[in-house]
Amino acid sequence: MRATRFFISTLKDAPADAEIVSHKLMMRAGMIKRLGSGIYNYMPMGLRVIRKVENIVREEMNRSNAIEMLMPVVQPAELWQETGRWDKMGPELMRVKDRHGREYAIQPTSEEVITDVVRSEIKSYRQLPLNFYHIQTKFRDERRPRFGLMRGREFTMKDAYSFDRNVDGLKQSYQVMFDAYVRIFTRFGLEFRAVAADNGAIGGSGSHEFHVIADTGEDALVYCPSSDYAANMEAAEAVAPSGERQPASAALTKTATPGKAKCEEVAELLAIPLTSTVKSIVLTVETEEKGAVQRQVWLLLLRGDHELNEIKASKIPGLANHRFATEDEIIEHFGTRPGYLGPINTKLPVKIVADRTVAMMSDFVCGANEADFHFTGANWGRDVAEPMVADLRNVVAGDASPDGKGILAVQRGIEVGHVFQLGTSYSESMKATFLDENGKPQFLQMGCYGIGVTRILGAAIEQNFDDKGIIWPTAIAPFEVVLCPMGMDKSEAVKQQVEKLYAELLAVGVDVILDDRGQRPGAMFADWELIGVPHRIVIGDRGLKDGNLEYQGRRDTEASVVAVEEMLSFIQ
Ligand code: ATP
Ligand code: MG
Ligand code: MG
Ligand code: MG
Repeated sequence: MRATRFFISTLKDAPADAEIVSHKLMMRAGMIKRLGSGIYNYMPMGLRVIRKVENIVREEMNRSNAIEMLMPVVQPAELWQETGRWDKMGPELMRVKDRHGREYAIQPTSEEVITDVVRSEIKSYRQLPLNFYHIQTKFRDERRPRFGLMRGREFTMKDAYSFDRNVDGLKQSYQVMFDAYVRIFTRFGLEFRAVAADNGAIGGSGSHEFHVIADTGEDALVYCPSSDYAANMEAAEAVAPSGERQPASAALTKTATPGKAKCEEVAELLAIPLTSTVKSIVLTVETEEKGAVQRQVWLLLLRGDHELNEIKASKIPGLANHRFATEDEIIEHFGTRPGYLGPINTKLPVKIVADRTVAMMSDFVCGANEADFHFTGANWGRDVAEPMVADLRNVVAGDASPDGKGILAVQRGIEVGHVFQLGTSYSESMKATFLDENGKPQFLQMGCYGIGVTRILGAAIEQNFDDKGIIWPTAIAPFEVVLCPMGMDKSEAVKQQVEKLYAELLAVGVDVILDDRGQRPGAMFADWELIGVPHRIVIGDRGLKDGNLEYQGRRDTEASVVAVEEMLSFIQ
């Protein structure tokens, strides 16, 4: 590819609505262009990355004997009504009507359609097992689309669906997909972790998520460095503290100073009547004890005797399967909105954990307003509610691993893939059966397997960037190598050498772009560093004089000199 025949459009500044690094850099590098909320044009530079991601996914799916097909984006409502998801999915499911008033779903996934295909195509156990997949546009009317491709409304997913005769077969198919996912994420060149996951609304038995490790991830993961144990925090088993952790009650169960609580003010803040009996509040705090930061999550019970002086903190039991997506759900469950910090007396320095995604609601002083004894400037946003509760039911770093093989560590991840054992839930509601060896109809055992193709781009960048821009792993970079000639129009030697090298690289299958735009070196380098091409070769008269070129890897701090005749083997 020659840069003058391609479309390159870089920006100095990111638009104001871009909150996280990957969103900012993708906008600045001209990879995506916003069309509407959660809806983006995939610009030529971004599409190249998407295609590379798709190709790796496709190759590994095919290698594991999954069969590619393509199911429609617009799907008849009747199928969705059969499984009950037409109602269950609520506003996240986008619905349209045609000119005859018939209703359709814009697919967020395709369990219904594939089950419909299979129930009419599959007659006998002899046709099983089968695994169909497609790479297709999805639409989910997300409550809060944000972060560019990370949480779009329209996005691309690879979704696969396996069909087996029995549970053993399902488990095998599941394992085959799990192994394919490990190969896929390894080939992307990303640091990732597979974790046990919550089965959520889909139901079924086994489920794992694949996460790209990044500090900015929305999910907290717990894992044991000395064993295989790894789980999404929301699915993690509660375990006994290892002993190194401060007992939960140490920091916050001290009684507030009597008489100083302003109950009316608090009641107003909480929008609760003063006659309420017990209200509870969830809260995440970080305390600094003996130089180490402890992150703890608390449930505060607020007694309605208006004294507000008996505040207890404890772990919330029995929430292992809850996900609180909205403030309304929190209110329903806890009887109050998240946002009030009780009059907790503590001399320990306490920091309220503010999530980077928090949309600030209010700024207030809590409790008795006594200096050094109370939290000030407490902010709660709607979006902190979910991670707050998710962290709460679980463990902290330093807890014993449930497998008894070590101490747990915590890291953050971005969910990029999800594998599920669905069992017979869809085949039963849609009556998808096959005839077994005895000629008896049996329900198909089903599994489903998703990869967020477009989300991978955001996740890869969150893990790989610096102050100059994106650093793509070579396998998914828009171009592997960029050739930067210095004064191509002036120097015949440079022109000849760059054209020769360009042709040679193409001939051996290197995905190379020749920057023939005639820009000054500074601007040219800045563009490619922003775009994140992993390998750069500079061709200039100065080096050529001694028979040399300059090579710089995107992570290198300096260029290295490579002889002209060695460059081809050096770069491969
Ligand atoms: P999340 O928890 O982030 O909302 P999910 O659990 O709803 O994701 P799944 O139904 O498991 O998503 O879909 C499979 C994959 O599709 C996810 O692992 C993720 O990579 C991707 N995905 C889901 N929602 C979006 C979205 N709004 N934008 C981009 N990718 C998405
Ligand atoms: Mg979701
Ligand atoms: Mg999820
Ligand atoms: Mg999921």
